[in-house]
Amino acid sequence: MPKQSTSPTAYLNGRFVPLDEARIPVLDRGFIFGDGVYEVIPAYSGYPFRMEQHLKRLQSSLDAIKLVNPMTSAQWGRLVKRMIALNAGKDQAVYLQVTRGVAKRDHAFPAEATPTVFMMSNPMSVPARELVTRGCACASATDNRWLRCDIKSTSLLGNVLMRQRAAEAGCLETIMFRDGFLSEASSSNVLVVHGKTVAAPPNNHLVLPGTTNDVVIEIVRKARIPLQLREITEDEVRSADEIWLTSATKEVLAVTRLDGKAVGAGTPGPVFRRVYKLYQNFKRTVMRRG
Ligand code: PLP
Repeated sequence: MPKQSTSPTAYLNGRFVPLDEARIPVLDRGFIFGDGVYEVIPAYSGYPFRMEQHLKRLQSSLDAIKLVNPMTSAQWGRLVKRMIALNAGKDQAVYLQVTRGVAKRDHAFPAEATPTVFMMSNPMSVPARELVTRGCACASATDNRWLRCDIKSTSLLGNVLMRQRAAEAGCLETIMFRDGFLSEASSSNVLVVHGKTVAAPPNNHLVLPGTTNDVVIEIVRKARIPLQLREITEDEVRSADEIWLTSATKEVLAVTRLDGKAVGAGTPGPVFRRVYKLYQNFKRTVMRRG
């Protein structure tokens, strides 16, 4: 009897396959050039969270790299839900990727190529209580990535190197500064608090428009916490009372050490604690609605 695969179920170009059996040709432009875009959609108790916003950002990324979306939003939606149903785990992170497909190696776009569509789902755990109550440590660096950080591109070498720098320093993330201003972190957006005021860099070509950042900003606005969307200097980050990271899998996390120095009092601050609670309430409400 052939051994039954215990590998999670993935989706590749129209077929559901065990992840460890999914194969792409080596000439796929995603492999050769990193010529593709992706999304990571969290799912709680079987329901995708902010799927519409993730699919909207996918469309923007595809438009930016001049790749026709191979599916409608309704088709993506059905596929994401099927993926969640086929995989284990109460909470999951659905990863989807579209590349420009297989073609003879040439930098210019091929005249004809069929996009490669890949999807997988991994069990996801929300940040541990300890991480939420203690906060995390971050390193910092000059942002030396390209100037289209708004595209959620699979060409992630710049981010990979930044995240590795954090890992080597025993930190969760590297917070980056470009020309003396805050951009974002290796795989998260960054917000800062001075007193009772929250500030976040505006969405432009220097940062990924984070879906979680949007939720946090909506929550901050609704709670009537003073909010500024503006450029933030490196000095303002280093003197902040609170620094927060946001991402789909990290949700909202307090940074309590930056480059080995305490941020504010060195513990998650009062504004963070309030917004964290509101974020969890928001999630619960959305999930209850299904
Ligand atoms: N910025 C970068 C560079 C990222 O890689 C990510 C997420 O992976 C984010 C920001 C946060 O985006 P989201 O909240 O949609 O996960």
